[in-house]
Order: sequence, then C-alpha cells, then structure tokens
Amino acid sequence: MKIDYGALDLKVGLECHQQLATREKLFCKCKPQLFKGDPEITFLRRLRPTQSELGQIDPAAYFEFQKGVKILYEANSETSCLVEMDEEPPHEINREALEIALIIALMMNAKPVDEIYVMRKIVIDGSNTTGFQRTCVVALNGSIKVDGKTIPIQHISLEEDAARKMGEDGLLVRYRIDRLGIPLVEVTTGPVINTPEEAEKVALAIGRILRATRRVKRGIGTIRQDLNISIRGGALVEIKGVQELELISKVVEYEVQRQINLLKIRDELIRRGVKEKDLKEEIFDVTEIFTGTKCQVLKRAISRDGRVLAVKLPKFSGLLGLELIPGLRFGGELSDRAKFWGRVGGILHTDELRAYGVSEEEISELKRRMNASEEDAIVLVADKIENAKDALKAVIERAREALKGVPEETRAANPDGTTRYMRPRPGAARMYPETDVPPVKITRDYLERLKEKLPEPPDVTVRRLMEKYGINEKLARQLSDSEYLDLFEVIVKETGVAPTFVAATLTETFKALRREGVNLDAIPDEKIIEAFRLVGLEKTSKEAIPEIIKWLTEHEEATPSDAIKELGLTMISDDDLKTLIDGYIEKNRSLVVERGIGSLGALMGIIMRDLRGRVKPETVNKILREKLLEELKKA
Ligand SMILES: [Zn+2]
Repeated sequence: MKIDYGALDLKVGLECHQQLATREKLFCKCKPQLFKGDPEITFLRRLRPTQSELGQIDPAAYFEFQKGVKILYEANSETSCLVEMDEEPPHEINREALEIALIIALMMNAKPVDEIYVMRKIVIDGSNTTGFQRTCVVALNGSIKVDGKTIPIQHISLEEDAARKMGEDGLLVRYRIDRLGIPLVEVTTGPVINTPEEAEKVALAIGRILRATRRVKRGIGTIRQDLNISIRGGALVEIKGVQELELISKVVEYEVQRQINLLKIRDELIRRGVKEKDLKEEIFDVTEIFTGTKCQVLKRAISRDGRVLAVKLPKFSGLLGLELIPGLRFGGELSDRAKFWGRVGGILHTDELRAYGVSEEEISELKRRMNASEEDAIVLVADKIENAKDALKAVIERAREALKGVPEETRAANPDGTTRYMRPRPGAARMYPETDVPPVKITRDYLERLKEKLPEPPDVTVRRLMEKYGINEKLARQLSDSEYLDLFEVIVKETGVAPTFVAATLTETFKALRREGVNLDAIPDEKIIEAFRLVGLEKTSKEAIPEIIKWLTEHEEATPSDAIKELGLTMISDDDLKTLIDGYIEKNRSLVVERGIGSLGALMGIIMRDLRGRVKPETVNKILREKLLEELKKA
C-alpha cells in the first residue's frame, strides 16, 4: 500500500534516551553498569500508587495496586546501594552527568536553564523503587538541521534510568535495579516530522550529536527512542522503547497503517448503525455450554476451576478478524486490553472460535444463550471469575473506543516494528518537585567555559577525516558513526599503516566479525593497536588482521605476537618466498607452458590461497611476474 503521508497530515515527534558514560550513577556513587549472573540481594515490595501534590492518582497505577502486584527487586552491591533501594535519600546530582547534558544542549543550540530543579515523574509499573523517576530539564528551545530542515528540540533533560524488567509470573514481577539511576539524557523534538524516513534521519542526526561528545554509552540498550505519532482524525499514540535505529521508519509506517485501519473500522461501525449505548457491560457465565468441549483453551481453564464468561458486541461480526498490521488483528487489540486489565491469557471470539476447536453445536448454543444474531460478535474469556470479569469490562471499553476511532494510548515496540498495548496514556500533573535534591545554579562563566571546548560536530569530523587522511566519504561517515574514531587516529599515527585500510578494518571488517558472533568488546584497544603495529613492521600482513583479532578475543591472556605465532601468520621473507614460488611454478609446469604469462592470475590464486596472511599480494605478484618472464625467456 502506497501511503501519501502529506495527505494524512502525519506528525511525528521523537524522544531519544541515551545513557551517559559517567563514572558514577546520577544520585549515588554506584557503578553505572549491569551485572550478570545471580543477584546478591533480593527484596520484595508491594506496588503503591504515588499521590501527587494535587491529590491525583494515576488510574493505571491504582489499578495495579488494587490487584496486589508484588515486585521482586534483584541487586548486587557493586551496582546498587541504599539509594536505589529507596532506603536512603538521593545524593546531590552527578556533576559529570550534568556537564555532558549541558554540552549536548549547547551542541543542539538550546538555552540552558538558570537553575536545575530535580522533579519526580510518577511511574506506575514498579520500574522505580520509589514509584517515581527523577528528572530535570537542562535546556530548552534548541534546534538541529536535518537535510536542510530545522527540527526544533523542545527540551533536553537529564534523568535516571529505570530498573530493568527480568520477568513476570502472575502477580509477581521481577526487576533488576542495576540499571536504576544510570544517567540518561532525554532529547525531545517538536512533532514536525512528516514521513517515516524523516523520523529515522532525525533520530540518526540526534544520535550522531550525542556520540560526538564521546561521553555516551555505546551498544545495545544504551539508546532508546520513544515516538509520538498522529494522523488527521486519528489520535496521538506514544510508542516506547525502539532500540534499533533501522526500526524507526517501520514503526511509524505500521502505526499509520494501524490508525488508518482503525478509522475504517469506525466508519464501518457507524455504517452498521452501532451506538455506544448498544455496548452494554452485560457479562454472561456460559461455562455450562463448554463442560464437554474439545477446545483445549477452554477445557484447560475449566479444569482449573475457571469460568467461561462472555459478552456480546452487537453488529461487530467479521470485524474482530480484520488485520490492522501484520500479526495484529482488531481482536488482538481487545485481547491486549483483556490481558492488561484482567491479567488473563487472552480472549476468544466468534470470528475464530472454530479454529480453536469449538463445535458448531457449542457455537449455536452460545448464540442462543447470548441472544446474538449473525451480525453480532461474542467475546469469551476463560479464567478465574474476577479476572475474566475485569478482562471483559476492558474489552467492552475498547469496543466503545472503536466507535470513536483511535484510542490515545501508550504502546510498546516489538522487535519487528509492530507494537502492542502497554497502558493508557498518562494524564497531566504527573510531576512534582524532588525536595531531597538541592537545585544547582548554572552560571554564565561555566557555560562560557563549556562553549569553548565543545566537541567537533559530526559533519565537521567527516570532512576533517576525508581531508586529513584521504579516506572516502563513506568510510569517514562510518568511522565517525562508530565507536572507533579515536582508536583510528591513534593507530594511524602510531603504526603508519595506510589510513584507508585501518578505517575499513575498524568499520566494515569489524562489523562482519560481529555478525559472525566475534565478541570484539573482549579485546582491549592496546591489543588492536599492537596488531596494526605488527602489520606496520611487516611482521605479518594486512590480510592476517581479522584472524588475529578473532583469535585474540578467544585468548584473553595472549598478545598479538602470540596470535601470529600460533596461527602461523609470520611473514615469509622475500628470499623464502622466491624459493616457494619456484616450487609453485615447478608443480604447475604444464599450466605455465600452455598459457605463458597468462598463467599469472591462476598461479596468484593458488599461492594466495596457501599463503594468505603471510605474504603481501603485491610482493607475490611482483616476484611471480619476474620468475614467469624468466621462464618464458628460457623456453
Ligand atoms: Zn547506589
């Protein structure tokens, strides 16, 4: 489907969250790192709604609280202390983090605030032990240029990252608090982005500026994007947690498609004459119909003392099976709500009952009991009666929203770019002051000092690399985007290896190695530099570098010299090479006689296959050519 985004009045705003590479966390001295393996400490808390000063309680938080959700927090002593556990007040704000945030703000032409006030932002899911996230606005009203268009940066904030969710089992949710308190910078654009591609380009441009500071974390999970997306007649939908840049345009495309299809369903419902008052909260217990059912889902629930409850959606027949985006039907939207509000496994509905092994007799009995016609849809939930009731109430609520079109909500991104329901969109008045952290004045002097040593902007870096090292734009861009820019400059300076080769190795070759599953993070920079030094000293060849690097990641204690020895990648001397080449000519005598100098290419292939990594191709070519010409003269 070709979509005219202009005609749809697509508006997208981005919120980029980037972890900063500081020595300590934002409000304590813990290491801003994640831990692997078993936790040293666990503690259980009951989720509690936090009341703002205005006395408003987030309805979703209150709901979770009522349900009795408990959170098991996991910690170790290196990455968390009493602050993360909410047993001790936060310390003063981390000045290093504040400085990085201010640098980012200045690079985006934003105006820093005079004084930093830390605020509490209510969170509802247990991802913060306190029930709120600490955040502070650092600067306002910036802008960046992307393809000649000015993209307003509404604000730049500094905040603490949340705990990370490890799993969920019924009413128990597990979170790890190592991530809690890692400094994050949040960059928020105005909703001026008009196409999916533009959204991706803006995110890329912001990411480049963040990385240009060289003081942000790298790797998976260290940058996360939230998107606000709306189209004309649709609604503002917030999509959280897009980790891959390449996914952004996909997420926008799918969301537009989802909203368009929801509007079509609305129009169809209006055409069918469905009114909000038709959607009654009349829940029927229809367990008896299914006591002998062959449907596994229902059978299992009934065998565990569950009940089968049902509601009728008048004139909704056929609509629940409509696909909104790949893998998500309209019925799936109802199901997501049922899962969230009822903590049930999902729903069954009349558009798909047969596929689940419900018999014709059971369906007609169900319709008779529910007084449903062919035009109506029926939704079933089989679970504990309280859960099933909550689930069906949520289904009715969602069906009512379908009459209006697109509900405003917060959705989570899936790895394929589709999304799922996360929670209702939080209302206003979610912020109130954090009284435990004193405000920080930002002086003009301090800002002037920061302005004097602002990092090089990404475009300037690319041009400088091209001019200084004679590498092409593509390599310069890849290098500037990579985490190896500094390393590149050190290697070229210290080893004398050709810049283009170093750049290509650190970008393209390293990317290929990562794809192969080589853990490049396991090898320190010093060893990479040393490997290139050996190439510069002609102890080994350029071609040997990938093999050496790979071997070093598997042998932590070893040096690049060890790698060369172990792998048999020591350079062959010119004298030895000459003798070897004589041997190759002898072995392939008939080929040489037959093709003369034309055998050069074939022989090169054979020799390089055997000696790759231990000889320079140029040297082989030169010696081989000389030898062949000698041979031909003799003949
Ligand atoms: Zn701590």
